[in-house]
Amino acid sequence: MSLLNENKGIWVYSESRDLALEMLGKGRELADQMKTQLNAIIIGHDVQGEASELMKYGADKVYVADDPLMARFQSDVYLSVLYNLAINHKPNIILVGSTKNGKPLAARLATRLETGCVPDCNRLSVDENGRLVGERITYGGNAIARVAFITKPQIATVPARAFEKPEPQSRQGQLVKLEVKTETPKTELVEAKPLQTSSARIEEAEAIVSCGRGLARKEDKALLDELASIVHGQVSCSRPLAEDRKWFTEWVGLSGHKVKPKLYIACGLSGVIQHVAGIRDSKVIVAINKDPEAPIFEIADYGVVGDLYEIVPALKDALEKMMR
Ligand SMILES: Cc1cc2nc3c(=O)[nH]c(=O)nc-3n(C[C@H](O)[C@H](O)[C@H](O)COP(=O)(O)OP(=O)(O)OC[C@H]3O[C@@H](n4cnc5c(N)ncnc54)[C@H](O)[C@@H]3O)c2cc1C
Repeated sequence: MSLLNENKGIWVYSESRDLALEMLGKGRELADQMKTQLNAIIIGHDVQGEASELMKYGADKVYVADDPLMARFQSDVYLSVLYNLAINHKPNIILVGSTKNGKPLAARLATRLETGCVPDCNRLSVDENGRLVGERITYGGNAIARVAFITKPQIATVPARAFEKPEPQSRQGQLVKLEVKTETPKTELVEAKPLQTSSARIEEAEAIVSCGRGLARKEDKALLDELASIVHGQVSCSRPLAEDRKWFTEWVGLSGHKVKPKLYIACGLSGVIQHVAGIRDSKVIVAINKDPEAPIFEIADYGVVGDLYEIVPALKDALEKMMR
């Protein structure tokens, strides 16, 4: 199916509430520009009460698919809800949150609708022909691709913190309860275990102390925890510390979280392009590295050439004194 020439609004879906609200902020801007409706979709069980919040953040209409079968994310079930909605209402644009579940969901939806899907758009705009244009980091962080659509619906996925969450307004919208008719899932969810992650979202952190392979032992994370607590921040890392050494469960960068803190302190981190792709929007970057040629110094606002095992405690002491 190609729905060319249809223009029935912009839709937003993410199972992550924060991300849905961020997308609604951008979606509202685009909808106003295109003089069209902004609609949101909620899928789950006992979720009807959440619709009013999405309206406050910009949704004109909220479609709610509420069923015990949808209490947990199940790809086939969620896909059939979105597919049936799209077939019946012919949206112009569908924005899906770039979460672990959202990305494959958007790709499968695009395949079923025989349309395109641009993943991980950090910027979205509308061109002079009214087409959605997405910008995404590509070639390992070395280039930015601008992609326009030639079929509809135009499906893009959006990572967390790509857009700011708008201020909620006292506005109302229309709630549409969906008749749920899903296909029998082809897979069965046997068990779901929560991933052990830090309770706060790293994307929300105002300050981040991050470490790389310069950190020699897992227990030395305590050094970073101390510095982070002084700057009221969170601790994160480069990908090898999470994926190879398993000292963390998440990392920052091209394939990890994209962050925008006011302060990013990179300790023993080389700063190759794949890491920098996730931190380039930080306000102030401080780098601590014993190699004066390390690429992290090219993007750092402040650089300290030295051993992190000496610099981090000294920095912590200096900050403590300052704050007394
Ligand atoms: C497709 C793809 C996606 C990727 N995505 C990501 C991503 O999202 N995020 C990410 O981080 N990486 C990612 N990577 C991996 C990336 O290419 C690098 O391998 C990784 O970022 C390097 O991590 P690092 O800086 O910790 O380690 P290294 O590059 O080994 O750097 C360690 C640094 O520590 C310094 N150092 C050592 N000891 C000390 C000390 N005592 N005091 C001070 N400094 C010291 C060294 O001088 C060096 O600069 C990706 C790779 C690929 C191929």
